[in-house]
Amino acid sequence: MSEKASLQGYVVHGLPIIGKGDDIAHLIGSHFDLKDGDVLCIASTIVAKSEGRFRNLEDYNPGMRASEIATKLGKDPRFVQAVLDESSEILLDKPFLLAVTRFGHIGVNAGIDQSNVGEGRILLLPENPSISAESIRHRLGKDCAVIITDTCGRPFRCGVSGVAIGYAGIAGLRDWRGERDIHGKELEITLEAIVDEIAGAANLLMGEAGGGTPVVVLRGLQYPRSGGCVFMPQDDDVIRPLLKR
Ligand code: GDP
Ligand code: MN
Ligand code: MN
Repeated sequence: MSEKASLQGYVVHGLPIIGKGDDIAHLIGSHFDLKDGDVLCIASTIVAKSEGRFRNLEDYNPGMRASEIATKLGKDPRFVQAVLDESSEILLDKPFLLAVTRFGHIGVNAGIDQSNVGEGRILLLPENPSISAESIRHRLGKDCAVIITDTCGRPFRCGVSGVAIGYAGIAGLRDWRGERDIHGKELEITLEAIVDEIAGAANLLMGEAGGGTPVVVLRGLQYPRSGGCVFMPQDDDVIRPLLKR
C-alpha cells in the first residue's frame, strides 16, 4: 500500500495589530505550537509594520519624473515618488507602474500597500524580506522554514495571488531536471517555484481584508533547503526583451 502525502494548513489566530518594534517570532511562538519542519508563511504587511515601514504621503516631495508618471496614471505624485524611491528600475509606467524593487522582486507599485494600513498612510515592503525571514527564523527556537508573502498580480492572468517575496530555510525552486516523466522521457527545463506555490496556498487561508490572520503554518511538506532562487537576475538582457511590444 502506498503512503498518502498529507499537508495540513493552520491559521494562527489572535495576533494583535502589529506596530514598529514588535517581535513577530515571539508573537507567533506564543500563539502557536510550532514543530520542526513546519513552513511558516507570514504576510509581508506585518513584517513591514514591525520594521516601521509606514510612511505618510506628506513625507514625499515628488520630482519631475514622478509628476509626469502620476499625470499619465491619474495617481497622487507623492505615491509615485514613493514607488520610485523603493525601486531600482521602472519596467512599465502605463497602464500601471511595474517596478523592480531594490531586493529584486518585480511588482505593481513596488508592492506599496494602502490597505490594512490606516487612513492617509502607506506601507512600504520590508527593505529586504529574505533578511527579515532569516532573522525571524533564527528567533523561532524551532527549525522551520519562513516565507514572507505578498498578494500580487500575475502576468497575463486576471486576479491576484500570494507570492513569496523573501524566504529562509527553504529553497526557492525545486529542480526536476534529470528526473523522468511517466513515459521515461528526461525532464530538461522544469524548475518548480515551490515558495510561490506555498505562498499561494497560505494566502488563500490568510484572506485579504479584515480577517486579522497574517500567519499560516503548513505542516507535512517535504521541501528542499538548498537550490535556486525565484527572483529574475538583475540584468537588462533578461528582463527587457520580455517586455518588448
Ligand atoms: P499582504 O498580502 O502582505 O499585502 O497583506 P494583507 O493586507 O492582504 O493582509 C493579510 C492578512 O493579514 C489579512 O487577514 C489581514 O487582515 C491581516 N493583517 C494585516 N495587518 C495585520 C495586523 O497588524 N495584525 C493582524 N493580526 N492581522 C493583520
Ligand atoms: Mn501587500
Ligand atoms: Mn494580501
